Amino acid sequence: MRSYSLAAHAKINLYLEIIGDRPDGFHELAMVMQSVGLADRIHLEPLQNHEIRVTCDHPQVPSDESNLAYRAADLLRYTFPEAFKKYGGVEIQIQKQIPVGAGLAGGSANAAAVLVGLDLMWQLGLPQTELQQLGAKLGSDIPFCIAGGTAIATGRGEIISPLPSLDAASVVLAKHESLLVSTPQAYKAYREQFSETYVADPAEVGDRHHTVHSGPLVSAINRQDYAQIGELLHNDLEKVVLPLYPQVERLRDAMLQLEPFGAMMSGSGPTVFALAKSLEQAEHIKIQLGDRLSDPDLGIWVTQLVPTGVQLIP
Ligand code: ATP
Repeated sequence: MRSYSLAAHAKINLYLEIIGDRPDGFHELAMVMQSVGLADRIHLEPLQNHEIRVTCDHPQVPSDESNLAYRAADLLRYTFPEAFKKYGGVEIQIQKQIPVGAGLAGGSANAAAVLVGLDLMWQLGLPQTELQQLGAKLGSDIPFCIAGGTAIATGRGEIISPLPSLDAASVVLAKHESLLVSTPQAYKAYREQFSETYVADPAEVGDRHHTVHSGPLVSAINRQDYAQIGELLHNDLEKVVLPLYPQVERLRDAMLQLEPFGAMMSGSGPTVFALAKSLEQAEHIKIQLGDRLSDPDLGIWVTQLVPTGVQLIP
């Protein structure tokens, strides 16, 4: 049996609106998600025994059963016991490039790659929609990470409507390396401060989803109008994360001073991204941010928008 290597791409949010509470305890969301070139490498190596093993080169990522990549393999093992019996165990080797706890869905991307890779290795032949349904059991971002590209995500983030892919525009990502923001804590803080704005009526929730589907950001994406996209970036979680972490707001404002199409925090942060007007501008922003903030704790990456979430590496 052969081994498989896959690129598991990070995502950024071009739009994140918190609509209300859901009966399952999650938030009802409307988001526009976008894959970026920054990716972890996932290598799946068949084992002779019936074990699932994880190795990872990043000290903050667990190698035990709590690793999302492990949980993805475990889910497939229990869902398809015959295939697992026939094809045996697997070692999942994770080479991290995506910063951890960064709002870039690194763990979800790893789980997505394991689902796609094991589907091939165990010859399951599952359609993408079925892989996404399985992924949704483990995490709301996983269905998007499987498909990738540009998409609207609604529900708790697991209902995906693809949009036309944006061209390979350049993006700068920046993050204070030692700063981690807990996603559940960010949503909890939002509920504490903004629950009076929540919509409860299902018809009204549907209206809010419709507004995003037919709204100006999606129209700008359809027209590949990056200047408009930059102006329409929106993330409700900035309202709670930026006051708690002023260094994130300073980073975003420093990016905006360099006049990209737009700059915003991704997901629950603390990563901030700038949509650059060209690769040259992206490199310029990287150098200028490094000079102006001169903070050894600051990680800065130049990457681009990409049309895929998980990619098989030949
Ligand atoms: P999201 O944007 O989906 O909230 P994130 O990018 O903020 O995710 P992750 O990098 O996925 O955050 O990591 C969140 C936590 O999950 C970390 O504490 C990490 O230890 C744990 N984790 C479990 N499995 C993985 C994995 N395969 N890769 C990265 N983190 C993992």
